[in-house]
Order: sequence, then C-alpha cells, then structure tokens
Amino acid sequence: MRYFQVNEKCNGCMACVENCPATALRATDKDGRRTLAHSMTRCARCGNCKRVCPNDAVEFQHLIEGVHWDDFQTLELVCCQVCGEPLYTVEFQRDLKASLSKEAEPFCPRHREEIASVAGAHFVAGRSGTDKGGAQ
Ligand code: SF4
Ligand code: SF4
Repeated sequence: MRYFQVNEKCNGCMACVENCPATALRATDKDGRRTLAHSMTRCARCGNCKRVCPNDAVEFQHLIEGVHWDDFQTLELVCCQVCGEPLYTVEFQRDLKASLSKEAEPFCPRHREEIASVAGAHFVAGRSGTDKGGAQ
C-alpha cells in the first residue's frame, strides 16, 4: 500500500516538496515527465504537505489511518507449564541456556513464586521435623 497519496487535483506544483521540513518529498524531472516521490522513512507525518497544497490534493488520511504492520519474524513460544502464559521464544530460551549454562524453568512469575513458596514450606517443615527429632 502507498501511504502518501494524492487525488486527481495534484498538478505537480511542488509546493509540498519545497515545504516538507523532513525532505521526505522529492521531484524528479526526466524524459519530459515530473515524478513526485515520498519516503516513509523520512516522513514525520507533520501534515505540512497537506496544509501548503493549494489544490487540496494530499490524501493525508492514508498517512494516519489504517496503520499497516509487516510481520518480519515468527518464532515458536515457550509457555508457562502451569497456566500456559507465553514467556519467551524457543530461540531466546536456547540463548539464555547458553549464557547461564543451565536450563531456565518455564514458569510465569506468579507460578514461579508459588512453586518457590511451596518448596520453601516443605523445606521449613522438613527442617522443623529434623530439629524436633534432634532435640529428643
Ligand atoms: S502541493 Fe499539492 S498539487 Fe502541488 S505537487 Fe504537492 S500534492 Fe501536488
Ligand atoms: S507529513 Fe510532513 S514530513 Fe511527511 S511528507 Fe508531509 S510535510 Fe513532509
């Protein structure tokens, strides 16, 4: 999709090109034709082109509506083993394992905390049982 669009009233006057503060518009005159071009990378979406156009030709709504997203990567997710909440990607897990030299356990923060507190309670119960036995 083309984000910068003009209607049939554009006569190539170049007011938009000359008044774009981001040099996001350019005109090329070649082989008897003038070509107007827009760079989305440079465009600040300031709206100046629309304001200065004497013919109300800039269809600015395309620059601010219907934002289009291009997927650039899709990776498999690792999810919490208890509730299924997405945590990180398989590739991130692999890199984490390499840098920590151990496997990260796939639990969300809530279930990690719950598991830690249950393990802690078992540890304390075990200790107190041992202490009791030791005192007798
Ligand atoms: S200012 Fe308007 S009419 Fe002039 S070139 Fe730009 S879009 Fe076309
Ligand atoms: S919105 Fe602003 S930065 Fe983008 S082309 Fe128009 S004048 Fe240039």
